[in-house]
Amino acid sequence: MTTTNAPEPTTAVTAAVQTFDSFGLDARILRALSEQGYSSPTPIQAQAIPVVLLGKDVMGAAQTGTGKTAGFALPIIQRLLPLANASASPARHPVRALMLTPTRELADQVYDNVARYAKHTDLRSTVVFGGVDMNPQTDALRRGVEILVATPGRLLDHVQQKSVNLSQVQMLVLDEADRMLDMGFLPDLQRIINLLPAQRQTLLFSATFSPEIKRLASSYLKQPVTIEVARSNSTNENVRQAVYQVEDGHKQAAVVHLLKQRAEQGLSRQCIVFVNSKIGCSRLARHLEREGINAAAIHGDKTQTERMQTLDGFKSGTIDALVATDVAARGLDIPDMPCVINFDVPYSAEDYVHRIGRTGRAGASGDALSIYVPGNDERLLSDIEKLIKRSIPRGKLEGFDPTGTRARQADSERRRERGDVRRARGSADSEDRPRRHDHGASRQAFRASDDPFFSRPYEPSPASAAQAKAADEVAAALTRGRTAPKRPVAALLGGVPRKS
Ligand code: AMP
Repeated sequence: MTTTNAPEPTTAVTAAVQTFDSFGLDARILRALSEQGYSSPTPIQAQAIPVVLLGKDVMGAAQTGTGKTAGFALPIIQRLLPLANASASPARHPVRALMLTPTRELADQVYDNVARYAKHTDLRSTVVFGGVDMNPQTDALRRGVEILVATPGRLLDHVQQKSVNLSQVQMLVLDEADRMLDMGFLPDLQRIINLLPAQRQTLLFSATFSPEIKRLASSYLKQPVTIEVARSNSTNENVRQAVYQVEDGHKQAAVVHLLKQRAEQGLSRQCIVFVNSKIGCSRLARHLEREGINAAAIHGDKTQTERMQTLDGFKSGTIDALVATDVAARGLDIPDMPCVINFDVPYSAEDYVHRIGRTGRAGASGDALSIYVPGNDERLLSDIEKLIKRSIPRGKLEGFDPTGTRARQADSERRRERGDVRRARGSADSEDRPRRHDHGASRQAFRASDDPFFSRPYEPSPASAAQAKAADEVAAALTRGRTAPKRPVAALLGGVPRKS
């Protein structure tokens, strides 16, 4: 492990840059950006691009959705341009920039962006991740690429097979580094970094700056410039956070109440509802559907077709409530959400920051609402408050009558059994249903997807599958008469065991 005694990081001064031209980017990059419809840099781009162009190491606090990919990819492409060539010889195309991500979805998204930004140049790029055939990846690597996007495990497989050589890497990006650590990739990262030249530029992006992340940075970054679009581990000021105390057993009804209340108030119904387990995720989506809310579950057990339909439905606005687990929602390119609901308080405080970072982007206002059961969730809530350094107001769910909702639910179930409830989707009569949730403005934020993610099968990485399985073990244990799981929750999730 290379240890650098990094002095206190300096903080980038935000330049008042309004256009991409002012960074001095090559005309071929600018052309690609204008084809993408990017007119001005996002705040993270305005801060990161000049610093990366100078060759400095960066520690960036930014989440997916802030435009961070272009923040590192554009200056990297610019810096590699003098080396771009049209030669057919693989030797002329060594890997010069390595971008590591925790999940295949994120790897694919980063690669997709890099390929778009570099499309008018001779720079080559490819992506490698697990769960798919290695041979096409090996072929692409053997032909030679300057920019390689990879998940750590699969990259090491290729290193072992000698299909890739990393000795000429000049730039390393650790994207969503916190997630890579959460998923247990630290040993893989160390092995990979040890294969790289010590003389290189390293960029580390993380949604939060936990002590582990700071340790990683002090080991591998040299005098990094810290770039933050929001204070580390902080949550946006423009996001209204609230937690609602609900009795155990009334959580589903509480979500229905919140969603219906929002609709009555004329607010957009579109939201992501986060659940800690796959079982709970499917169960809640079914419950919301029964309550007349267009909902769908997305988690690691869903097939590619189901995931594709769900995300397309959500982006086009036919689905209002996307019920998701953390692993499934991570890295998905979903624009700003008006509302995020935590059906379950997340086991990790960092996940709370990730989840609610889905709302209130780019100065928009948003609601981050959590439901908590007294006695069960207090410690998790206090961990969150410690991390975000603020207390979250406890509220009462105004007008909430779980008994009434349950009565309605029983009624709707009875009607369903009689077969006279219209299915929300895929039925011949769905066209003539009244459009209850016509929130044009929020819909326009969603665009039809051209992301290759939507056309390939989903296969969770072993680590994320283990995480999801652990969450399900917890859910199953809790369902079985609320007996305690055999192992502590943090350990089941692969996290650091906590002292009670
Ligand atoms: P990221 O946080 O890098 O995943 O980016 C989130 C989304 O914002 C992606 O769909 C990007 O294509 C888009 N994006 C990134 N930068 C800009 C920009 N300057 N203007 C408009 N859209 C952008």
